[in-house]
Amino acid sequence: MVNRALCITLVGGIVFVLAGTLIGQQAPVGYDDTPMQPSGRWRIHDGARPQPRVVKPGDPGPMRPAPAPQDAIVLVGSGDDRSAWQMMDGSPVTWAMSNGVLSTGKGFIRTRAEFTDVQLHVEFATPKEVKGDSQGRGNSGVFLGGKFEIQVLDSYQNRTYSDGSAAAMYGQYPPLVNASRPPGEWQAYDVVYKAPRFTAGATLESPAVVTVFHNGIVVHHATPFWGPTQHKKIDPYVPETAKGPLSLQDHGNPVRYRNIWIRALKGYDE
Ligand code: MG
Repeated sequence: MVNRALCITLVGGIVFVLAGTLIGQQAPVGYDDTPMQPSGRWRIHDGARPQPRVVKPGDPGPMRPAPAPQDAIVLVGSGDDRSAWQMMDGSPVTWAMSNGVLSTGKGFIRTRAEFTDVQLHVEFATPKEVKGDSQGRGNSGVFLGGKFEIQVLDSYQNRTYSDGSAAAMYGQYPPLVNASRPPGEWQAYDVVYKAPRFTAGATLESPAVVTVFHNGIVVHHATPFWGPTQHKKIDPYVPETAKGPLSLQDHGNPVRYRNIWIRALKGYDE
C-alpha cells in the first residue's frame, strides 16, 4: 500500500514548486510566432531574447540642453517655432509646442527637409507619472530617413521585448545596454546615421548604418539595418530609402521632445 502521508507530501511539494515558479515568472513579453531575423538567431521581437544589461548613466544633475553647433539645422529650438515640421500628409503640424518643448499629438510628424547622412541630437522625456507597461509606456520613436526607427520608450524598470527597448533599432537590435533615466527626466540620443546607397540599377549597394549614444553611452556601434523597421517584420530596401525626412512617432503615449538638431554629414574635403 502506498504511504498516504508520503503522497500528500509529494503532491504538496509539487504544488509548492509550481506556485513558486508561477509567482517568480514575469508576464511574457514579445512573440514566438514572428519571422526569424536574417541572422537566424532570434525572431523579430523575440520574447526569449535577453534583456539589455542596465547601465546607470553618469549623473549631470538636471540635464541642460546640449547647445547646437553653428552649422546645425535646429528642428526644435527654444521657442514655439514648429516651421521645420509638417504632418505626414504635408498639412500643418498639430503637435503642441511651447517654450521649446514639443509634445506628441495625433499622427506622426516629419521634417519638411529631407536628409541623407546626418549627425542628430534629440532630447526626450517620458511622463513622470507612470502609466501602462511594456510597449504602452512612453512609446514614440525617431525615424531616420523616415523609415528606420530608433525606439523611444520608458525602459526604466519596464520589461518589454528587447528589440523594442528604448534606443533599440526597432525589431532588429536591442541597445547594447539599457542606459535609461527614470521617468520624467530628460534623456538624449546622439546619432550618426549613414543612409543606404543604391546602384544606378536600384540594387542595394550599402545598407543604412547607425551609431547611437543614449545618455552618453554607446548603444549601437556602426550597426547596419536589415531594412526599414516595422512591427513584426522587416521591410525590404527600396531606392526611395536613400533619402528621407526625420520623423517622430505618435504611439498614443504622451512624450515630450526638446532641443532637436541635425547636421548634414559630408565627406572629407567636401
Ligand atoms: Mg516606437
